[in-house]
Amino acid sequence: MITTENTDESNSTKVVKVHKCPICGKLTDNLKYRPFCSKRCADIDLGNWFTEGYVIEGKAPVDEEEGE
Ligand SMILES: [Zn+2]
Repeated sequence: MITTENTDESNSTKVVKVHKCPICGKLTDNLKYRPFCSKRCADIDLGNWFTEGYVIEGKAPVDEEEGE
């Protein structure tokens, strides 16, 4: 049996804080736009929220006005 402790050690000493961008799934160490990898992905997420908000707001009153 061969023990390769040396290789493992060199791996764990290099600590880079990487996280996965929820938009494009890319691994990134960009802290400025965390949890996103870039401003573009942060903007995309913001756009998703706005779009969702509009859909919900427009949907709600439609049902009630049908009775009149
Ligand atoms: Zn991204």
